[in-house]
Parts: sequence; structure tokens; C-alpha cells
Amino acid sequence: MSTDNGPDEMTKKCWDEKYYQPEIERMDQEDLKLLQLERLKKVAEHCYRNIPFYRQSFDAVGFNPETIESLADLQKMPFTLKQDMRDAYPFDLFAVDVRDASRIHASSGTTGNATVVGYTTSDLENWGDCFARAIALVGGDSTSIMQVSYGYGLFTGGLGAHEGGNRIGATIIPMSSGNTKRQVQMLKDMGSDILACTPSYAMLIADTAVEMGYDPATDFKVSAAILGAEPCSEGMRNEIERKLGVTVVDIYGLSEVMGPGVSCECRYQDGLHVAEDHFLIEIVDPDTLEPVDEGEWGEVVFTTLTKECSPLIRYRTRDISRIIPGECACGRTHRRMDRISGRSDDMLIIRGVNVFPSQIQQVIADFSEVTSYYQIILSSKGPLDHVALMVETVPEFSFDEVRRIEDLQKRIMAELKSNLQISVEVRIVEPKSIERSEGKAKRVIDLRKAGE
Ligand SMILES: [Zn+2]
Repeated sequence: MSTDNGPDEMTKKCWDEKYYQPEIERMDQEDLKLLQLERLKKVAEHCYRNIPFYRQSFDAVGFNPETIESLADLQKMPFTLKQDMRDAYPFDLFAVDVRDASRIHASSGTTGNATVVGYTTSDLENWGDCFARAIALVGGDSTSIMQVSYGYGLFTGGLGAHEGGNRIGATIIPMSSGNTKRQVQMLKDMGSDILACTPSYAMLIADTAVEMGYDPATDFKVSAAILGAEPCSEGMRNEIERKLGVTVVDIYGLSEVMGPGVSCECRYQDGLHVAEDHFLIEIVDPDTLEPVDEGEWGEVVFTTLTKECSPLIRYRTRDISRIIPGECACGRTHRRMDRISGRSDDMLIIRGVNVFPSQIQQVIADFSEVTSYYQIILSSKGPLDHVALMVETVPEFSFDEVRRIEDLQKRIMAELKSNLQISVEVRIVEPKSIERSEGKAKRVIDLRKAGE
């Protein structure tokens, strides 16, 4: 029943991969570990000296940063939680005076205090370098034109990509998000080579271009898209690649740790190389907090190695991933993390079953009749949770035959049931029934509390 809706190789434009910092990106693993150890000592002492929170938490477990002898000593250090960052609002986790910072970013703070992160000039340069590696690996350099359609502002997407473009010397078009027809016009008229935005927005730009009468795969010069800030399933990636005629690379990052560029896929699209000279990655069992074996799934934990203003020790991201064992064909030696399989914060508990929206996305990606525009609506029916999935069809799908629609509904329901062990009411809807997003898509509407 799985249908091949993969990208048409003929329409994907080719590019030659480059390295932005080959001496670091292809560094010998042993040398890299020595560099990490040296930087770990420095950052631990920096935290201990300049951030009372860390002095107290290190003292509480009897940890002295001066005793660090190997990377394994990391295990002796306490974790940092998102709540610790909220409690530190606004500047209690800054290791430098706020007036010595060059810039501040912050999360939206919809569920409590915002998390505030500061960057010194050097922090911004390092951030730019991390993003610039992503630009180089899609063939970009100082002659490239990059359209940045991530939102600019306190959100790290726009200015993070911008910083990367600056470091590599590219021509940047700072579109921010919104005004999608204008985005399409600029993408065409400016002859942009690279598009940077969220996967949802790339999809909307592609669809809008088609509506405006273009075939982006042939009419536009854009050859690569660096997409991040939300999960992108393989099906969605294929759809964007086919519609825009580009190669999509997934870039990962979170504002608490830096922003986009903590890790990025290479052209082999098999895991995201972590910028291991700037970040130490650990995968731990979310229950026991013990490290898992290489290749096993668990919660991703990062320690920043070079940040001056907002360093973090063992920050629990709540993202679930794993380290992909083995070497990558691209020659980069930095280890790869797998695509995020879910975020423990996004996890839905439906009738006692743990479900990630990304699992639902993966199931529908196998049906060629539908697109990756979907929405999950949770409500209460008596004491039980009721789950509805709205999913849009491809434009070619005919709504004239009721039997075809019912058949499709049944097949998707059966597949969801066998994959997720929950009953889902599937509503097949016409294209454009679901509200479009210029940033991160709103995938879940939870009406359960309101209905009580
Ligand atoms: Zn690679």
C-alpha cells in the first residue's frame, strides 16, 4: 500500500557540496575529543565562577570543575532543565553582564516565563559559523543568494540564518515570514539559490508559486532548501523537493542552546552532523538519566562548549533521538544524530497511549492520495478522548465518488490503528481546508480541557 511519492531526480537541481571549515568538520575524532575536553574544562569553570546557579548546583553534588580529567567526568555534573531557565528569568543564567552581550533572543513564554538567551560578539560569530557550514554543504559560498523566510525577531530562525549568510559572505534577502506571494516573486526575480525557512512555510511557498502559474522546479534557480524549527517527515521532505525542484537539508537547533545550526544534515540525508566542536551531545534514558548505548534512542542532552554569555551544562532538550553509529560518506567526522522522533513536550496522551504527532505524519506520508497538510483535533466524548485527523487530498483527487473517499478513510484509519494502537476518526478534506502557516504549523488542537 506504500506508494512511491519520492522526488523526481530529474527535476532536482545539482550542486557541489563544499566545506566551510574543513579543518574542523573533518577533524580526526581523537583530536576532536581533546579539543572538547579542553573546552569542557573552560566552560565548567566559567559557569562555576560567573553563574550562582551553577556554583550552587555543582557544590550540592560536590563537583569541582578543576578536577575534570576526561570527557567522562561530564557524568558527574548536574543537569539543567527548561524550568531552571524559566526560573532564571531574565538574566540569572547569564555569565556576563547583560550590557556586554551583543544580542538577546527569547522564547515566546506562552506556558510560563520566557527563556532568555544572550550572545556575545564571539557567540554570534560561532553561531554564524555553524549555520555557514549548512550553507556550504548545499553548495553555497560567497557568490550565493540566500532568501531567509524564517521569522526575524526574538525567534532565533531568521537572524540565525542571517548570521550564517554573513559569515560565508552570501547575498542575503531578509524576507522574514509572511506575504507569501511577494516571497515567491522575490525567489524568482532575485534568482535566489538557497531558501531558508520552516518546512511548513516552504510547502506554502511552493504551492503559492504553482497557483501563481510558475513551475518552481524549472522556472526558479533555487537548488537547495535549509529547513528547520519543526519536524519534517520523509514524506513532507519528498513533497517539498519535488514541488520546488530542490534538495532539502534538515537543520536542527533550539534557542536555549543556540538556535539553528546545532546540527545539520549533509547531502546523504542520513542523520544530522552535530557541531561537536561547539556542543557536547549525550543521549540519556529519560527515566534513569543514565547514558544509553550508541545507536539507542533517548533524550538529547547538550553542553555548550564555547558560549560566553549563556553557557549551559547538560541541558535536557526533551527531544528524542539517537546517535547514528558509523562514519558518513561525506567525510565529516562529527557524529550524526538521527532526525528527532518526537519531543517529550509534544507527546499526546490519548486514552493512556503515548502518541507523537510525528508518528501520525509518518503514517499518512505513505498515502499518495493525501498531502502533509493535516491537523489533529482532540476532544472529549463522555469520559473518553476522541481523536479526529483532518487531512487534505492532493489536487487531483476527485471528491465525486463517495465510495473512493470512504475507502481512503478506512485505509488510513486501519493503518493508524495498527501503527499507534488508537482509533482515529479520519476526515478527508479538500485542498486548502486547513489553515496555512507562515512559521511553525499548528498540528494539534486540544479541546479536551475546554470540553470538561
Ligand atoms: Zn555526512
